[in-house]
Amino acid sequence: MGDPPRRVRRRSGSHARTLVLSAIVLGCGVLVLGLFTSEAAPVKGPSIPSAADLRAGSQRPADPPLTKPAAPTVSSRASHLAAERFDQAQQLLARQAAAVRDRDRDAYLATIDPQEATFAKVAARTFDNLVRMGVTDYRFGSLVEDLGGLTPERREVLGPTAWVADVGVTFRLEGPDPELWKTDLRTVFVERQGVTYLAADGEGTDSGAATPLWLSDTVGVVRSKHTMVIGAGPQSRLERYARTAERSVSRVSRVWGDDWPEYVVVIVPATQAQMERMVGVEPDSQNAVAAVTTSVGRVDPSKASHIVLNPEPFDKIGSLGRIVVLTHETTHVAAHATVSTMPVWLSEGFADYVGFHESGLSTAVIAQEFLAEVRRSGGPEELPGGPDFDPQAKALDQAYESAWSACKYIAYRWGTDTLVEFYRVMDGAKSEAEQDEAYETVLNTTREDFVARWRRYVEVKSRGG
Ligand SMILES: [Zn+2]
Repeated sequence: MGDPPRRVRRRSGSHARTLVLSAIVLGCGVLVLGLFTSEAAPVKGPSIPSAADLRAGSQRPADPPLTKPAAPTVSSRASHLAAERFDQAQQLLARQAAAVRDRDRDAYLATIDPQEATFAKVAARTFDNLVRMGVTDYRFGSLVEDLGGLTPERREVLGPTAWVADVGVTFRLEGPDPELWKTDLRTVFVERQGVTYLAADGEGTDSGAATPLWLSDTVGVVRSKHTMVIGAGPQSRLERYARTAERSVSRVSRVWGDDWPEYVVVIVPATQAQMERMVGVEPDSQNAVAAVTTSVGRVDPSKASHIVLNPEPFDKIGSLGRIVVLTHETTHVAAHATVSTMPVWLSEGFADYVGFHESGLSTAVIAQEFLAEVRRSGGPEELPGGPDFDPQAKALDQAYESAWSACKYIAYRWGTDTLVEFYRVMDGAKSEAEQDEAYETVLNTTREDFVARWRRYVEVKSRGG
């Protein structure tokens, strides 16, 4: 194993959380929907009248009865052309999707604007990534036009026929990860000599929108029995991560049981900036985060999540740190924690409990900063709450250690099986009252009494007991 754990924890100073850190992106499925909605808000399909049209219509006197078929108006010809343009674009995407499913690179590249050499290179990279990832069921959804989607500069480059539309593409990955993935694209269509082509798939998404790695970099793939690693960088690096992820899956099953797919997808970006774009969070917000579990990129967050590494911190934490962090995140995947409404202290404390289980580290080492605080100020009155786990919170380490100590106390007092049962019952609770009931039905105590007993436990531990 690498550096002694104590040194590893200290090495990154105020960001010591990089050992056990583990911010889980709660509710990111909702976040993605929010982003998409905010992009789609000013967007409308050609068949939807604008507010201005409706106002004009309401002020117009009633039309006289028609005695013969009216000649096509300019606007109806325009909408006919728009509908035809739409059909052409939808057919183009259907051909592109078929080319991905058939692994036909030439057919895929034939859908790309011949005048956009830079985008053609990106598109070739995307196609190769999708083939390496083993995507199946690759399909586009319906187009939603964005009438104001091109800047004047881009209009100048792409020409008068260019137009922008939002469209989602869904697919599955070959292997034991059966759930649908989804990416929202900002496509640009152009017409060259009467033929429709795709000229871009990320128009105007430079800031904000979640962008998957396979659209922004060349990815390699390593598959093993319990894991699939998709990432940038050399294959040997991805193989190392895959070996760690394999061990994480069996470590999780030894505590959590085997009634989960026992399979995890790990994505390895090249940089933190890429990682932040992938999960749709602010730039530079994840400095203290070595990995996240997220459902961003999944159609149904309640069914699937995956792990995204923050490459630099993750590589710096030593081999023990890496197995602890990946086991922590894999616990979130197994327990579908991204959609849980349980108290954060339990989802994070339990993930750390599983992460450190079998690590051979003592309580004094695992919870050193929290126990030091208890020595200084006495045991806490309350379990740590949501804001304490903000990736940029000052006492982030202490929050995780405190949560871990509460789970450790449950395992010490009632046993690991009861800890798992408590987690499952709390996960299924639909209200605070039901959560309070879980203390009584599973631990035969009340929440207040539990907190009081845990406080005494950590006070004893803080004195080396
Ligand atoms: Zn976590």
